[in-house]
Amino acid sequence: MKNLNLFLLPLFNLTIIFGGTALQSPSQFLGYELGDKFTFHHDAVDYFEHVSTVSKHVELITYGETYEGRPLIVSVITHPNNKESLESIRTNHLITSGLMEGEKMDNSLSIVWLSYSVHGNESSSMEAAIKTLHTFADTNNVEQLKWLEKVVLMIDPCINPDGRDRYANFHRMTGNLIPDVDATTREHREPWPGGRTNHYYHDLNRDWVWQSQQESQQRLKLYNQWLPHIHVDYHEQSYNDPYYFAPAVEPYHELITPWQREFQAIIGDNNAKYFDERQLLYFRNEDFDLLYPGYGDTYPTYKGAIGMTYEKAGSGAGGVAVITSDTDTLTLKERLNHHYWTGLATVEATYNNSEKVIKEFQDFYKKANSDPDGEYKNFIITASGNHKHRKQELFKMLDANGIEYFYPFSTGKIVNDAFHYQSNTNQSYTIEQDDIIIPSKQNCSVLAQTLFEPKTFLSDTMTYDITAWSLPYVFGLNAFAIKDEIKIGNPAKVVQQESTISFKEGQYGIIVEWGTVNSLKFLAEIMKQKVIVRVAEKPFSIEGHSFKPGALFISPRGNEHLGDKLYQIVQKALQIHNPFSVSTLSGKADSGKDLGSSYFRVVKPPRVGLMAGDGVSSGNFGEIWHYFEKQIGYPVSIFKSSDFKSIPFDKLDVLILPSGSYGFLKTEVAADEKLKKESKASSLIKKSPPSELIQWVNKGGRLVVIGSAMEKFVDQKGYGLVKYESEAAKKEAKKKNEKEKLGERVKKYGNKSRDKLIDNSYGSIVKIDMDKTHPLAFGYDDQYFALRLEKTLYPLLSKGWNVGILKDSESHIAGFMGNRIKKKIKNNLMFGVYEARNGRIIYIADNPLFRSFWYNGKLLFGNAVFIVGK
Ligand SMILES: [Zn+2]
Repeated sequence: MKNLNLFLLPLFNLTIIFGGTALQSPSQFLGYELGDKFTFHHDAVDYFEHVSTVSKHVELITYGETYEGRPLIVSVITHPNNKESLESIRTNHLITSGLMEGEKMDNSLSIVWLSYSVHGNESSSMEAAIKTLHTFADTNNVEQLKWLEKVVLMIDPCINPDGRDRYANFHRMTGNLIPDVDATTREHREPWPGGRTNHYYHDLNRDWVWQSQQESQQRLKLYNQWLPHIHVDYHEQSYNDPYYFAPAVEPYHELITPWQREFQAIIGDNNAKYFDERQLLYFRNEDFDLLYPGYGDTYPTYKGAIGMTYEKAGSGAGGVAVITSDTDTLTLKERLNHHYWTGLATVEATYNNSEKVIKEFQDFYKKANSDPDGEYKNFIITASGNHKHRKQELFKMLDANGIEYFYPFSTGKIVNDAFHYQSNTNQSYTIEQDDIIIPSKQNCSVLAQTLFEPKTFLSDTMTYDITAWSLPYVFGLNAFAIKDEIKIGNPAKVVQQESTISFKEGQYGIIVEWGTVNSLKFLAEIMKQKVIVRVAEKPFSIEGHSFKPGALFISPRGNEHLGDKLYQIVQKALQIHNPFSVSTLSGKADSGKDLGSSYFRVVKPPRVGLMAGDGVSSGNFGEIWHYFEKQIGYPVSIFKSSDFKSIPFDKLDVLILPSGSYGFLKTEVAADEKLKKESKASSLIKKSPPSELIQWVNKGGRLVVIGSAMEKFVDQKGYGLVKYESEAAKKEAKKKNEKEKLGERVKKYGNKSRDKLIDNSYGSIVKIDMDKTHPLAFGYDDQYFALRLEKTLYPLLSKGWNVGILKDSESHIAGFMGNRIKKKIKNNLMFGVYEARNGRIIYIADNPLFRSFWYNGKLLFGNAVFIVGK
């Protein structure tokens, strides 16, 4: 409730302040017309609270809060005559769908869930949510009241409040009183990082299934308790593209049912009716497909709903008014109204088909539990060859999505023709006792299959996103996909064992295995508290246990500065993160090097720097920021790109350069006479990057360069990175490129987007050959499965260590990869370490922290930060 500005409020507002119960319109409540300016999130929350306070048929659920502390809310609207509680509506829906035991009620309602502003700068939609709520709350609207007889409406006004307010603040700060419609002016140009993403610059519309972000975790908990029949995710696209709504375009995931396809079109037709009546432009069947499971349309679809994306012209550059390519002025008011119309049309279409909507949803789950479609009947995570911590992380993710997993009913069954993920071949497999089975026959059949199927079927290779995410590769697990039925036993359980190892005075030291994120978190925790650690460069065994390279040895020696605190710090970290460890009373190894050997290299807690700002990919920056703050809990110093010159290099041990264009690293210097002649055009030559950087590396700094940031270091003196192995190779590539370009001239205009695909490998899975004897690969096996994201291929480092190699076209495992780029793969650098004078440059050609979901890449990044050294 707003109690401020009492004297400025019109008289009729006083009824509310003094305990009145009248429903206010948005403009009465906010003091301005929707569309005049961007509403702050806290004002929207106040309005939603007001509506639920004065309207008996509107209930507000607060389901969480953002990283910056803003509340996350959903309003649920039912018919005023409805006698049932929300809880009984919800449980009845689950009971009738076979998802819960219990007694059915006579009357079933269909549930429509509308989600707004997942992308914070696509900001008309939260304004539309406010208007939509008011319309359904106002009982004078007989038409909407009638729809509520059959439909329960849930409105989440803003999935991403932190990003939304980042945008609203920007526009309130910079918008002219008389809006400037010219899109090149300041009020249309958001500063880095823009308002699209959340606090950690993650795209929440890529995160539904992974739930790497707090907002997704909290929302999905509520979503999966309700499982609505219809879900709409509201967006905005370029301000020149009028309006997109369902049906989506191919490729659709092959398990999407005929009804899910059909009803999208029915809703689309109703949306079109509203737009036709008003002579508004729109398009369907374009751009937006239904495949990658991280979206607000696909995820609900895989959970049985009709999941859809609606896109209005606008987004960050839209401001409150902008001139479009057809020289019309597009206003915020218009944008929010169009989203409002599709909201009404969607509820109406659901009302008109409510019985069928409910029946089809029930059938979806009936089929899931009796006779699901799909090539594979079961997926097996094998008992042997898998670290329990990796399995636990997988199970956590399955739990968060409601996917069930079981032990086998009996052992010894031989399964023929089982697909083995790691070798990419079919083999026979014998079921073992502690295998974990994820059956396709279960409530979450479609989602489970979508996540585990080795290769996603693409009905069309023109897709909007990555095309591979099969979980055994994501988690680095030994696994099989099986076409046979297997009898399943009891549900499998994750047993979290507490560490029983104690580290106390008088002991020689403690050894901790390396190889999972648990050990990485343990290391980060003790290093944060200034513990000095030794890392084994060679395998060894002690106290009857064998350890691989990378094992940590913590000794009182070198940690005298901590006194007795050392034991408490290590003990506590062991309890929290529970890596496998043994304590020892002696430095004598049973085999391999003794603990005092120089093969146990001392590693000290690094001070880590990270670049942010213009020229740096905000997404990749955000993933790394989130990694340090939320995943491993280690401090990181963030520097703005505009302050590059004032970075205190002498105080840094590690500097991380996320992907980016790095224009700020360019320096121009006067060319000498010879160079002037060569370059002819200019007396200035571009020299990059500044010398401070290489001087710091040579003195002992560790530079971590990721993805496209590598391009800035190609052919630069002292960095050891080239794009072509030799001058001859460079010439040959140039010739080839010219030939290809000539070929392109005879291409058809109509195929122009499709033709680009031959060079595309965005989001496929590749096999990387690892040198596991190098510290960058400690904890890994001979092979690592990575997500391929970048186009550029680099040759191997001629001076330094090529730790991860992309060997040839056979390295492509899953997902779409263009023909031309596939043919070009030949011993390319994926991960490498260049040895500068005293420092190291670590090249990571593809981002292992992409969207924070590739579990198996997290350790590699930790190795780069903490373990690689001299
Ligand atoms: Zn969007």
